[in-house]
Amino acid sequence: MKHVIIGNGPAGVVAAEALRRTDPAAEIVLVGDENAPPYSRMAIPYLLTGNIGEEGTYLRRDAGHYEKLKIRLIIARADKVDGKARSVTLSNGEKLPYDRLLIATGSHPLRPAIPGIDSPNVHPCWTLADARAIAAKAKPGARVVQLGAGFIGSIILQALAARGVKLTVVEMGDRMVPRMMTEKAGNLIRLWVEKKGVRVHVNARAEAIKSTGAAMQVKLSNGQTIECDLVISAAGVRPNIAFLEGSGVKVSDGILVNERMQSSVPEIYAAGDVTEAAGFYSQQPQLNAIQPNAADQARIAAINMSGGQTAAQGSLAINVLDTLGLISTSFGQWQGVEGGEGVELVDEANFRYLSLQFKDDVLVGATSIGWTDHVGALRGLIQGRVRLGEWKTKLLQDPTQFMTAYLGAAQKAA
Ligand SMILES: Cc1cc2nc3c(=O)[nH]c(=O)nc-3n(C[C@H](O)[C@H](O)[C@H](O)COP(=O)(O)OP(=O)(O)OC[C@H]3O[C@@H](n4cnc5c(N)ncnc54)[C@H](O)[C@@H]3O)c2cc1C
Repeated sequence: MKHVIIGNGPAGVVAAEALRRTDPAAEIVLVGDENAPPYSRMAIPYLLTGNIGEEGTYLRRDAGHYEKLKIRLIIARADKVDGKARSVTLSNGEKLPYDRLLIATGSHPLRPAIPGIDSPNVHPCWTLADARAIAAKAKPGARVVQLGAGFIGSIILQALAARGVKLTVVEMGDRMVPRMMTEKAGNLIRLWVEKKGVRVHVNARAEAIKSTGAAMQVKLSNGQTIECDLVISAAGVRPNIAFLEGSGVKVSDGILVNERMQSSVPEIYAAGDVTEAAGFYSQQPQLNAIQPNAADQARIAAINMSGGQTAAQGSLAINVLDTLGLISTSFGQWQGVEGGEGVELVDEANFRYLSLQFKDDVLVGATSIGWTDHVGALRGLIQGRVRLGEWKTKLLQDPTQFMTAYLGAAQKAA
């Protein structure tokens, strides 16, 4: 059996290792187009703050790890997939035949259509090469404008602030992290980062970036112009699927897969940021670009690729953020569901917030700020689809009792 994996990020690496465990005799080829050992983007913020060196971002650090597992690594771009002939054409001219193919090509940062976005001092923060460029320019005192305050943007913000730059954040939405946090929670995070000295513009977009020598001016839709030395673009991501044109693989925004992580072409599977897999509660295709999701899907794809039978439970939003020391989380259907019920507790003075969302007597989503103890219980209740019974009424009255409810309801169910 010959397995080819395109993409050597977390999904590709986890899948290659799982395939080796389930199919000791198989040929396994792992293709990646970045000139670096397989690494984790999640570690880039720690690289920027100086907590780790570049090797600290590598997914596996023991020497000869891939050779020992007989996983052949190729550095090249996959340019084309022929689903009928079962082959992948690489940028180096090599043609790789396969019996089973896994696409784990992740996503790429969106480039907002703003005049001046191509200036040399505008960078996304997505790859090790981006991190090197940012580290060279984001020196203490440098004036930095960051476009976007979504999940990844807020993680980058933390790393930039730690480097001692003068930071201004521009977000199109009406609050920070608008696709992960309720209105009150997103506003509370904004208040917190402003208190820490970061300037935040919400309901604003960059309309133009001008360069005058080394300095730049970012013109905003709210009429303000910000002088800066560096612009970080964190305006969202999109799956890497362009090379699949003509392959027969059905795509929407990402690759559409069934619960076995199999695409519309039976020999081709997909995992990670590149997929649009069924949601845990909605069962509708959704993008969910987070690393735990990538690793889970990779393991499931690998088992099925080597002849096993296993199904994904559906992809679940699991987001944990540390924004300049303020811990926030959001899980599952944090925005609530139609016909559901919810409760919200806001303690603005102490930067604490909790929102619980129910469907019938099951917790389907939650958002928290300032809760560091036991937040795993929220995830446990959601992921376990635990029936809360009488605990639901108690939680609607006092949502802070979620840990007691978890112990009570989950133990009863067990
Ligand atoms: C700064 C930052 C912080 C983050 N923090 C978190 C966090 O705290 N928690 C969290 O859950 N997630 C976080 N993420 C998101 C997380 O990194 C992604 O969800 C994860 O990397 C997805 O893994 P993947 O293997 O699907 O894709 P990727 O890691 O993107 O790997 C895909 C690989 O495929 C390669 N590739 C693409 N196209 C081709 C091709 N045609 N041929 C060959 N190779 C190709 C790419 O170059 C890449 O190396 C963060 C991301 C960033 C950028």
